Amino acid sequence: MHRVLAGPIEFPEFSSVFVICDEKVVVIDGGVPNSTMDAGFLNQVDYLVITHAHVDHLGTLREIVSRYKPKILISEQEYQRMDFEKINSEGREIYKDLMEFFGEAEKVEGEFVIVDEDDEFPLGENTLRVIYSPGHSKGHISVMIGNFLYAGDALGAIFNGRYFPLLLRGSSREQYYSSIRKLLEYNPSMIGLSHGGLLPFSDVERSIKENSPPGDFGLGGTAEEIARKFSSLFVY
Ligand SMILES: [Zn+2]
Repeated sequence: MHRVLAGPIEFPEFSSVFVICDEKVVVIDGGVPNSTMDAGFLNQVDYLVITHAHVDHLGTLREIVSRYKPKILISEQEYQRMDFEKINSEGREIYKDLMEFFGEAEKVEGEFVIVDEDDEFPLGENTLRVIYSPGHSKGHISVMIGNFLYAGDALGAIFNGRYFPLLLRGSSREQYYSSIRKLLEYNPSMIGLSHGGLLPFSDVERSIKENSPPGDFGLGGTAEEIARKFSSLFVY
């Protein structure tokens, strides 16, 4: 398992892309378009998981898909939103001036596979299992591989040890928190957060329960500015 930093140049830790190497190789999400990630170290990618169609998760997809031709696993609802003009304009609406750091995503054409709750994909030693986890976005999916849960944006974000939820204004609070409860019941040993990296289950669970508003992230400079602006987009 590799955690690849895929945030903007000013704050690489902003986004994490997870690469799981079994007989089959899985990549989870694609970071921001102005990404520090170089996908060239990969030899193969069999499956690319899109947890949800937000611009800061789709950045390097075009490169990965054109080079490795993976099957792209996505939910029906998020697939319906894979119109890149819309994704970028929605990005400007949601993320406002953060889009200057993120950049605009480019259209991805490839083999999309629509997935649903409990769908399984054998990888060799492990199996990838799809967990429907809507709330942050309507068709958000998470995946369990072995004892690790890759939760995209469904469980919130942690920068420099400080947690904040990723519940957007106008989204269903009930759906968001019911997905959190559901994901925690899987009792994984480690949790991969797109905005936070790979963390022990107990750290994430404790942060969610405390749910205290973040103050200073202690990052300094532009990274701090990005972290603060991003965290202020979400509600408690
Ligand atoms: Zn998102």
